[in-house]
Amino acid sequence: MTSSLPKIWRPFTIQEGADQPIRIQSGSGLWLELESGTKVMDLISSWWVNLHGHAHPHIASAISRQAQTLEHVIFAGFTHSPAEEFAERLLVATDHHFGHVFFSDNGSTAVEVALKISLQYWVNQGQTKRKRFLAFEGAYHGDTLGAMSAGDRSVFTEVFNDWLLSFHRIPYPQTWIGDEECLQKEIRILSQIQTLLDTYPNEFAGVIIEPLIQGAGGMRMCRPEFLQQLEILLRQHDVLVIYDEVMTGFGRTGELFAFQKAGTSPDLICLSKGITGGFMPMSVTLTTTQVFEPFYATDPLKTLWHGHSYTGNPLGCAAANASLDLMPASSRVFREMEQWHLDGLYNLAKLSAVDKLRVCGTVAAVSIRTKGTEGYLNSISGVLKKRFLQEGMLIRPLGNELYFMPPYCITRLELETVYYKACQILSELK
Ligand SMILES: *Cc1c(COP(=O)(O)O)cnc(C)c1O
Repeated sequence: MTSSLPKIWRPFTIQEGADQPIRIQSGSGLWLELESGTKVMDLISSWWVNLHGHAHPHIASAISRQAQTLEHVIFAGFTHSPAEEFAERLLVATDHHFGHVFFSDNGSTAVEVALKISLQYWVNQGQTKRKRFLAFEGAYHGDTLGAMSAGDRSVFTEVFNDWLLSFHRIPYPQTWIGDEECLQKEIRILSQIQTLLDTYPNEFAGVIIEPLIQGAGGMRMCRPEFLQQLEILLRQHDVLVIYDEVMTGFGRTGELFAFQKAGTSPDLICLSKGITGGFMPMSVTLTTTQVFEPFYATDPLKTLWHGHSYTGNPLGCAAANASLDLMPASSRVFREMEQWHLDGLYNLAKLSAVDKLRVCGTVAAVSIRTKGTEGYLNSISGVLKKRFLQEGMLIRPLGNELYFMPPYCITRLELETVYYKACQILSELK
């Protein structure tokens, strides 16, 4: 018995009955090569981390050079140029809206850091009543307990619900092409928020939101106008705005960052996933100077006591710097890709199985009409995954939400091929 049990415990995988994982031999640009020699297009950027393509030589050699110079050093009391350079460049890339960079090593920890900073920001100023947080239905912010708390309750969190912090939760004004009730939805939600803020005056510390696109919740999209109105409302009540840009950062929405596309100014943002071009685990939490100032003190109680062993890892920073070098070229693609997606979606829209088409920058999604229950466990996901793989395409639908999020090295012709084949596969669905 024990010898037949898998030695490796896979993430986000129902263990019994799981398909054998597919062994990947190598990657190059858009393509992954299987052991059999078959090549498949990576249409989900390997869980949303890859930006410029697999095994990009510029990033690979930057890591190699760094590894032979300085692989790691303690980041408290010591520093190194890859981190200094990256922090500097990131502050420029975010238009000097933020002033301070806190390093950690994955999306969940970047969120934990943002939540802890937001709470302590108020405590450091003697406002100990500001302990409430607002978050959204359908949100996903990671898998550590604090990040899970901020995320919506689901099958992922069920077992741990008693352990989770409580967040006030409001609907996400998700919209799609041709949605006529969008504005009413937004107005309703904003007034719900207004009511909450009025009910608990000076008790909210912050709000956390995935701007423009909720990722794991099913590629649910909202309009920039909503984020603008939300910000106006929160400013009136002095509530900190945290953008979880772990997925939306580094070009996914068609601009370098979602807050730039939305024309808004959050107080903190969390970045990870694409930060190193998909090469090394790393993350940062950026804050404005207003947020940093109450921590600039000699009092140990005003210190942010947080850090991870690999904080500011030089290899991660070298990869991140190399990834930024590639941005000017990649940005030509991520700015254009929305139109490429729209052209492809035009044909999918005619299929009876397809509903709620939506696109934001490099991310396109549709809901598949199925008889099964909606949500992550819908069985259509596995069916589509297999069919697309047969046709040389790696996808991973979120339940009945099918989406494409390719790396920026994809060509317009390759994406046309994807939609051509998707159209064939989806028209087979009854
Ligand atoms: C993936 C994701 C996270 C968690 O990042 P990890 O690196 O997997 O811990 C947090 N927030 C959002 C929006 C994400 O997409």
